[in-house]
Amino acid sequence: MLWLLLAAIPLAALAQTATPSGETLERLVKEAHTKFKNEMSGKNADYIPYLASVPSNLFGVVIVTVDGKAYGAGDVDYGFAIESVSKPFTAALVMQESGTDVILKKIGVEPTGMPFNSVIAVELLKNRSVNPLVNAGAMASVSLVKAGSAAEKWDKLLACYSRFAGEKLSLNEEVYKSEAASNDHNKGIAELLKSYDRLYADPLETCDVYTRQCSVNVTAKQLAVMGATLANGGVNPVTKERCLDAKYVPKLLAVMMMAGFYDESGLWAWHTGLPAKTGVGGGIVAIVPGKMAIVGFSPPLDEAGNSVRAGKALYYIANQLDLSLFGSGK
Ligand code: GLU
Repeated sequence: MLWLLLAAIPLAALAQTATPSGETLERLVKEAHTKFKNEMSGKNADYIPYLASVPSNLFGVVIVTVDGKAYGAGDVDYGFAIESVSKPFTAALVMQESGTDVILKKIGVEPTGMPFNSVIAVELLKNRSVNPLVNAGAMASVSLVKAGSAAEKWDKLLACYSRFAGEKLSLNEEVYKSEAASNDHNKGIAELLKSYDRLYADPLETCDVYTRQCSVNVTAKQLAVMGATLANGGVNPVTKERCLDAKYVPKLLAVMMMAGFYDESGLWAWHTGLPAKTGVGGGIVAIVPGKMAIVGFSPPLDEAGNSVRAGKALYYIANQLDLSLFGSGK
């Protein structure tokens, strides 16, 4: 009887659900690193002075699976500024505290097709804050975190990121000072949102907490554990701590699929079919639900703000393993 049942399951479907072996993952991170370490295009972000000073040759690739195993190549232990890769984790905290309707109604979930810090998007689009993965929506997310003071809000955010990473994360003071001295544009966005009643706390305090969240230091390995927690339905695969209710994870991943790659989100979805988030510090995390997270880190960025080497490494691994969520397995 059992063989009849097994015969009814197409082999390709089995292949699609299986997590690749440890040897395969180990080989692929090394191959991706070797293949793209001499890629010289792109340049470090320089609108935040600190980021321009990070060595451009740094490059790390890591996979962490949902059973907590890590496979890495290159600079996987270098601490870099998380920047916008923090945004889904703040949205996760808002969901955990207040549910998903708040995100839908008070922020929005539509991609903008415009740069991550676009004021025009705030002016043109009815939702104003647009989605939690652009600066406007990310500050709206910060403003929705429940706390009696900005200091408490910041503590809650850092504790949340640390739970996802399974390690205590900290603020990179140098990055924070550099960003705080050059974040007038973000202050402007916060004030503008407030004028449209789409920011739910004091604009300058909110912008400061947001600037801190972007200045958190992570290594590629820590970021991959954060991503693997989302791949694992909200439970950290290393510490086994639940960081987000499983019912919220698909919603968060849907926003990452639509808006995680700045205004190249369509291109990224086309090439990989995976939810992801990138940051101007050079980090990218891609989530393969039920299987793993793949992280690349390298400072030089393309025009949209995405790390060139990290993006190429992730494309390569995703395609070698045929990871697109849109595949039928046939
Ligand atoms: N702190 C950066 C900013 O607000 C984050 C940008 C990013 O990584 O997309 O401009």
